[in-house]
Amino acid sequence: MKKFIFPVLVFFTTVLFSQTPLINDSKSEEVVKKIVSTSLENWTSYKWLGELCKIGPRLSGSDNSVKAIKWAKAKMESMELDSVWLQPCKVPHWIRGEERALLISDKLNLYKELKITALGGSVGTEGEKLIAQVIEVRNFDELKKYGDKIKDKFVFYNVPFADTLINTFAAYGRGVRYRVYGAIEAAKYGAAGVIVRSVTSKYDSIPHTGVMLYADSLRKIPGVAISQQDADFLSDIIHLDNSLQVGLKLGCKNLPESTSYNIIGEIRGSEHPEEIILVGAHHDSWDVGQGAHDDGAGVVHSLGVLSLFKKLNIKPKRTIRCVLFANEENGSRGAKAYAEFVQNSNGKHIAAIESDRGGFTPRGFHVTTDSLTLKKLQEWSPLLSSALIDWIRPGGSGADVSKLKNVKALFGFVPDGQRYFDLHHSAHDTFDKVHPRELELGTAAIASLVYLIAEKGL
Ligand SMILES: [Zn+2]
Repeated sequence: MKKFIFPVLVFFTTVLFSQTPLINDSKSEEVVKKIVSTSLENWTSYKWLGELCKIGPRLSGSDNSVKAIKWAKAKMESMELDSVWLQPCKVPHWIRGEERALLISDKLNLYKELKITALGGSVGTEGEKLIAQVIEVRNFDELKKYGDKIKDKFVFYNVPFADTLINTFAAYGRGVRYRVYGAIEAAKYGAAGVIVRSVTSKYDSIPHTGVMLYADSLRKIPGVAISQQDADFLSDIIHLDNSLQVGLKLGCKNLPESTSYNIIGEIRGSEHPEEIILVGAHHDSWDVGQGAHDDGAGVVHSLGVLSLFKKLNIKPKRTIRCVLFANEENGSRGAKAYAEFVQNSNGKHIAAIESDRGGFTPRGFHVTTDSLTLKKLQEWSPLLSSALIDWIRPGGSGADVSKLKNVKALFGFVPDGQRYFDLHHSAHDTFDKVHPRELELGTAAIASLVYLIAEKGL
């Protein structure tokens, strides 16, 4: 009986799909297939990601960041593009330094080192050890209820990752506000500092960093993250000893701003060179791990698109421009500089595609556009399905390209997101976590979309 199921399924699937309006475009179909097989054969993005990760993490202002910029520019130059240039911008320069935290419970005679990571941009403790009691809260409303009791204490934002949500980016969105704005809210009540449960889907002992913000009108207090395991441990001990203290020593500081660069390279269009299709990612990363998925993957996706066009000798009708943005993680200065440049130049961007969700298996593209363009794009679905793209849906693009104005369609590449926040902003984000086939399929998916836009316009 089982034997018959497969042919029957094949029959029904064929019938169903033949009823969807297929675009009769065998040339495009051929090119997309070639893009996919070339990606999988050459592993160019994967090899380049290995080189980039070898440089190490690339926080804005760091020596590694300078090395990465030189590396990327050299890669673009090696492809003999029509032009390659650097676009300067000022970036913050924050350094981490020593970081230690000790849980102190005299009542329980318990003294335990907590594994911490300073939040990006945090002030340090200026060589001192900051010792204070800890108040645990689950949200900003609870913080408000404590009010003045918070004065001179650490606020511990113990907000678990929203594991029940299928969309991990939505889950991240729920938790991340405590990391970003926690210090501002706590400083309103005179807190000594903030300790944040890492915003991650991985339950282990590794903390995850990320940007935090201050308000000019309020005192700047240090902010650190602890792992999910340590967060549960700290919470358990607070319930046994509510006078428990934490001692914190942080060597991080903000140095004067330095100059960084967007790295830009393009293949000029043969028929409509004034119409630009941007493909981009950010080249900076946090200073832990290697920034392999965030956003090394996006960098080599974008470079890989150019490489595929060159290798397959595809002459695009419209201009394809790769922009590797500076400083997405703690300031988006690169995106701002590029958006300003676009506003003052003649180039008309018809599409901008950002890859900043890791190097996992492709799923689809989010797009911000009008309904007519969306309809047109969705008609390309059968062509893109050869590159493993299941859908094109309305949705946000990315932190860098969303700064651009008057672009017909802003895209965000969406790979599978289930493991992204296991790694994101932590020591886990290393090259060995990237799978070559998954990464290459991402490059192929983006290159296929770029090809169709370059051919057909929007
Ligand atoms: Zn990123």
